[in-house]
Amino acid sequence: MHKNLIGGAWVDATRASRNLNPSDTRDVVGEYAQADVEQAGEAVAAAHAAAPAWALTTPQQRFDLLDAVGSEILARKAELGDLLAREEGKTLPEAIGEAARAGYIFKFFAGEALRSGGDSLASVRPGVGVEVTREPLGVVGLITPWNFPIAIPAWKIAPALAFGNTVVLKPAELVPGCAWALADILHRNGLPPGVFNLVMGRGTDVGQVLLDDRRVQAVSFTGSVATGQRVAAACAARLAKFQLEMGGKNPMVVLDDADLDVAVTAAVHSGYFSTGQRCTASSRLIVTEGIHDRFVAAMAERIARLTVDDARKAGTDIGPVVDDRQLAQDLEYIEIGRREGATLLTGGQALERNSAGAPGYYLRPALFTETTPQMRINREEIFGPVVSVLRVKDYEEALALANDTPFGLAAGIATTSLKHAAHFKRHAQAGMVMVNLPTAGVDYHVPFGGRKASSHGPREQGRYAAEFYTAVKTAYTQA
Ligand code: NAP
Repeated sequence: MHKNLIGGAWVDATRASRNLNPSDTRDVVGEYAQADVEQAGEAVAAAHAAAPAWALTTPQQRFDLLDAVGSEILARKAELGDLLAREEGKTLPEAIGEAARAGYIFKFFAGEALRSGGDSLASVRPGVGVEVTREPLGVVGLITPWNFPIAIPAWKIAPALAFGNTVVLKPAELVPGCAWALADILHRNGLPPGVFNLVMGRGTDVGQVLLDDRRVQAVSFTGSVATGQRVAAACAARLAKFQLEMGGKNPMVVLDDADLDVAVTAAVHSGYFSTGQRCTASSRLIVTEGIHDRFVAAMAERIARLTVDDARKAGTDIGPVVDDRQLAQDLEYIEIGRREGATLLTGGQALERNSAGAPGYYLRPALFTETTPQMRINREEIFGPVVSVLRVKDYEEALALANDTPFGLAAGIATTSLKHAAHFKRHAQAGMVMVNLPTAGVDYHVPFGGRKASSHGPREQGRYAAEFYTAVKTAYTQA
């Protein structure tokens, strides 16, 4: 039984959850103690008690700890990647890549702990000095989704600790194993008791405690828009700081002058890899009419070659969908697309078994063509390997459609025209813009986030993370 980490001790619970490998549902990945509301409160109390001393640690102490955590994650990336692939269904190379990314994130923020500083400014008054410093917030609540179960907790935990905050993490119920492995590494590398706490359990009770408890100074959330709105309302009600990273309906524009192979590679990578379960997946391909038919034919041909199989099997391109609920949602959207009159050009069939005969949640990557902008498959986040193509006249129409969405996370363009690339970078209403690259696939040391319904609050990752995890203080001194 994997336990919760509260105040430096591994704590059991009265309830437990078992999670299954989506590639082979006969395989139980692990059993995890499910914290209750009281235990979530105890975790907050432990983080609250540990906050003053942790805030006073030196940057060197925080550097040493985070750097050691990063080193251990990197040294164990194959093992952690294997756990991730088994628990969430990401293919092994992607899962190992995600684990490595988490290691580098810890190392990056180890460095940020040393760099965090402030400004010395001139005052408008004679003889007065002005210093601007950044201070820790105190207890930070972190609520994370299932689709990046190592990297997303890492990109919240590392800056929170680097800037002197204490943490309570509530990971998604579907992926407690990855969060537990991270907690174990943090614990064994000598974090003082209470500085990092893990509570596994339901969002609606354990997660809700983090939203409502006044000792939690800030909440960083990644997940769906519906939950994000609940997080926002609860935090606003008690004026706590909050940061939301939510869904996407990311466009990729393909222009007549695009390199066909570059465009198809980018579209297949960001539409289908990680089984399309990425907030940055390009699920809307907006293609100008001069290249449309060639592009669609090349996509169909490339998709047909994708191997859908056990996430941990060598040669698998697309692993399973994360669970039966997500699979049912994907299939429902495929049905909606059909009913709306789109053409299902390829894929969309659920496969009950993999090549070894094991039961799992497999789905052949689906491509819809002849779609229209108002179809639900073009407006709502599906979060599976389901992509649609919109045919447009020219770049201007493509840009207008790219921006015609409630979301604004990532936007891509495939073109050899510098003029169109430059214009798109300037006018795409998205937090991240990719030219001749997949929309999914971002560096770990630069800002991540979007606008409109995709994000709210300061950016995650990179040095911009300080905006969320610190409070600015301005001090005036009369010499
Ligand atoms: P979700 O259902 O919103 O859950 C996210 C987290 O919130 C989970 O830990 C969940 O716990 C918790 N939660 C649920 N209700 C809560 C409540 N009332 N109070 C506090 N916490 C609560 O999202 P998901 O299905 O895990 O993740 C998929 C979504 O995440 C997609 O929309 C995707 O686009 C988005 N995403 C965004 C980014 C980004 O950076 N923009 C990155 C990755 C994913 P339970 O596990 O108990 O439900």
